[in-house]
Amino acid sequence: MSDHHYERAVVPASLIETLREKFGDRVSTVQAVLDQHGKDEGWHDASPPDAVVFATSTEEVAETVKLCAAHDVPIVPFGTGSSLEGHVAALRGGICIDVSRMDQILEVNNDDLDCRVQAGVTREQLNEHLRDTGLFFPIDPGANASIGGMTATRASGTNAVRYGTMRDNVLSLTVVTPEGKVIKTAHRARKSSAGYDLTRLFVGSEGTLGVITEIGLKLYGIPEAMSAAVCAFPSVEAAVNTTIMTIQAGIPVARIELLDALQIRAVNNYSKTGYDEKPTLFFEFHGTEAGVKEQAEFVQSVAEEFGGEGFQWATRAEDRNKLWAARHKAYYASLQLEPGKRGMSTDVCVPISRLAEAIMETREDCDASILTCTMVGHVGDGNFHTLILLDPEKPEEVAEAHRLHERMVMRSLRLGGTCTGEHGIGYGKLAFMEAEHGADTIAIMQAIKHAIDPKGLMNPGKLVPGA
Ligand SMILES: Cc1cc2nc3c(=O)[nH]c(=O)nc-3n(C[C@H](O)[C@H](O)[C@H](O)COP(=O)(O)OP(=O)(O)OC[C@H]3O[C@@H](n4cnc5c(N)ncnc54)[C@H](O)[C@@H]3O)c2cc1C
Repeated sequence: MSDHHYERAVVPASLIETLREKFGDRVSTVQAVLDQHGKDEGWHDASPPDAVVFATSTEEVAETVKLCAAHDVPIVPFGTGSSLEGHVAALRGGICIDVSRMDQILEVNNDDLDCRVQAGVTREQLNEHLRDTGLFFPIDPGANASIGGMTATRASGTNAVRYGTMRDNVLSLTVVTPEGKVIKTAHRARKSSAGYDLTRLFVGSEGTLGVITEIGLKLYGIPEAMSAAVCAFPSVEAAVNTTIMTIQAGIPVARIELLDALQIRAVNNYSKTGYDEKPTLFFEFHGTEAGVKEQAEFVQSVAEEFGGEGFQWATRAEDRNKLWAARHKAYYASLQLEPGKRGMSTDVCVPISRLAEAIMETREDCDASILTCTMVGHVGDGNFHTLILLDPEKPEEVAEAHRLHERMVMRSLRLGGTCTGEHGIGYGKLAFMEAEHGADTIAIMQAIKHAIDPKGLMNPGKLVPGA
């Protein structure tokens, strides 16, 4: 697909020696550590860095970046490596800055419903910390990703239909620029009209413009009432139409997730659940007791209209957690359908009114294919994924997976959608950027990249084609 074979940069032994003098055994050149840092959870080829620095502070990140810049050595920031599009592969080698040890929650301001964390804090760690405050942070990519990585990929997940994505929930950032300066993009105010919105520029920049070291986030009060439900449908179309009508009616569902019949089979096998092997919606409602009841009754009546077969309720926290744990493991459940194969994850997102068309045509393509494909979707946002199982050693399977993927993306663009709702570009989706944005828009992205990172050292080969 995209040509990602780059010449590796020369990393002088003296640079690694200097880093060791400064950071001791927090600099690693052990092959297993390099391999782990050159590969994400997706199916793309790995490309290990030459060394990994485990930073513990903004100052250490800045020192490392300055040293790398002085030697023209590429830098790849790393959170937990759960991304899916080859994001962390060190395509030109260089130094990986792993921020996972920057795991301090720096402040929680209950009265303002916000907090500030270091980039290596994970979303589960943050919610565990917040448990007794009555607050929570809603964004939940399936993996226990770092807040820095989630910011850098503009991540979302099952709750985004109600609470938005990282774009909507990051208030401010501390960033180490490619020359090693430390900048802050904003203060704590909920809104500001003061100049270019650099916060939003760095959200979704995938490590190509700098290293994010601290993040200010919005928090939310834990709702008075929550309940989750599962409902099976006679067809994918019926489930999707239920979703569309729910969203168009303005029902503030907190989660509405589609799993097709094969995905449900995979989940049942993997998580030992007993759901009907039919296209299914998982719902969650947040609000007051009365509000939740009202939302649930409305959605139930819409589902019945489309042939939905009863709601299985999970009102106890323990049952809800089990349900969402099964949903979050859907990716690994699918991989187990054909052990040994890898999964190409697609991630299109379309306007809600076009969702039925996008999903039905995709399903037809998948049914006619030689490859096994499961489907899950954050359908309330018009976002869905097929996981296409393939053997990377078989060129005909790789070609077929690319064909299916390309058709999905082109269909999504035709319907006013995007090639990626939440996973990002990495190098895996680079080839679709021009089709989505057009050459003139890409030229502006290239100009921004060049202005901030003139030497092209930050995560080279990612996000912006030709930059
Ligand atoms: C099972 C599974 C389910 C998933 N479900 C979802 C989902 O529902 N929604 C969703 O959005 N994603 C999902 N993902 C993808 C992934 O979890 C997200 O992309 C996540 O945001 C990546 O965070 P990370 O900490 O693992 O980042 P990494 O993979 O370590 O890095 C991702 C990118 O961000 C850059 N980066 C990391 N940290 C920093 C930093 N501090 N400063 C600057 N750049 C940085 C890296 O260079 C890289 O380009 C899923 C992945 C898996 C494996």
